[in-house]
Amino acid sequence: DASTLPIRATLFPGDGIGPEIAVSVKQVFDAAEVPIEWEEHFVGDTVDPRTESFLTWESLESVRRNKVGLKGPMATPIGKGHRSLNLTLRKELGLYANVRPCYSLPGYKTRYDDVNLVTIRENTEGEYSGLEHQVVRGVVESLKIITRQASLRVAEYAFHYAKTHGRQRVSAIHKANIMRKTDGLFLKCCREVAEKYPEIKYEEVIIDNCCMMLVKNPALFDVLVMPNLYGDIISDLCAGLVGGLGLTPSCNIGEEGVALAEAVHGSAPDIAGKNLANPTALLLSSVMMLRHLGLNDQAEQIHDAIIKTIAKQKYRTVDLGGTSSTTDFTKAVIDNL
Ligand code: NAD
Repeated sequence: DASTLPIRATLFPGDGIGPEIAVSVKQVFDAAEVPIEWEEHFVGDTVDPRTESFLTWESLESVRRNKVGLKGPMATPIGKGHRSLNLTLRKELGLYANVRPCYSLPGYKTRYDDVNLVTIRENTEGEYSGLEHQVVRGVVESLKIITRQASLRVAEYAFHYAKTHGRQRVSAIHKANIMRKTDGLFLKCCREVAEKYPEIKYEEVIIDNCCMMLVKNPALFDVLVMPNLYGDIISDLCAGLVGGLGLTPSCNIGEEGVALAEAVHGSAPDIAGKNLANPTALLLSSVMMLRHLGLNDQAEQIHDAIIKTIAKQKYRTVDLGGTSSTTDFTKAVIDNL
């Protein structure tokens, strides 16, 4: 029976706390009998000339072949002559959208109890196109690139996401009153796509007003779609609304159906190797990966076990004000499966 065959997925444990939290995911998947066979790939210690990065060609091929993967945080090595690891992944795998759900975790009290929103960030262009130069001494220039193709693609993904996830509304976040051409084109593309989805409400919110509304009453928002730089900032703001980087998952959507889930946080060098990291963000990212694969029963089971563990308050990691180690928390999640 093909449906019981294991599905191959690429796993990048990554750097710093990455390997510790990747072990948590592997243990929880084993306990929940998730039919996933991991293909583990590590960041190399020399530059692969084929990728101009510390990521090997083979590791990128692994994601292209499997079309699905999970990524721990990667610390970008300092020095010249190579590309940033995250940029390499984004470019090589055409990861055009970053999806980040933010919702209040029952039992973990923050200033807000009713956050339930999703940010969808354009991932390939805008101010992050990497086109900066000096015009003359004392004057530099950075090019903000917005294309119709990339804007339509991310807008299409946002509306499709809203429709398939029972969401009511998509808000396009912009500064088109000042950035008339670039954000103007982004909005135009969102409007065109909105017309194809009459059942989804569409609105446009200026970024500064959006920030004010988010901190006053985040329940005002449902799905937010935006260009790269705004998405980078707003998605971290939203992570803060529900308890911080240790909790928030994300998934990168790429060309030809590729999905690479990843925790939002970095490699946390200050706590690496100390068994202190909160594995929740990577675990919830792995849940997003399972949902992408249609393994909904296992996704729900693991999701509920994580929520239950945090709600019970007995096992919480240090970032959430508790005293549990990574391994104790992981064991508690397994006990709650
Ligand atoms: P960071 O996210 O690694 O750490 C910020 C703070 O949050 C630290 O105090 C850290 O201890 C804490 N923290 C983060 N994740 C945690 C977790 N799971 N459990 C408990 N506490 C957690 O950000 P940084 O220090 O700015 O970056 C460190 C390195 O990570 C840099 O090399 C950076 O380039 C890289 N980075 C990678 C990614 C990625 O791979 N997607 C994202 C951000 C930063």
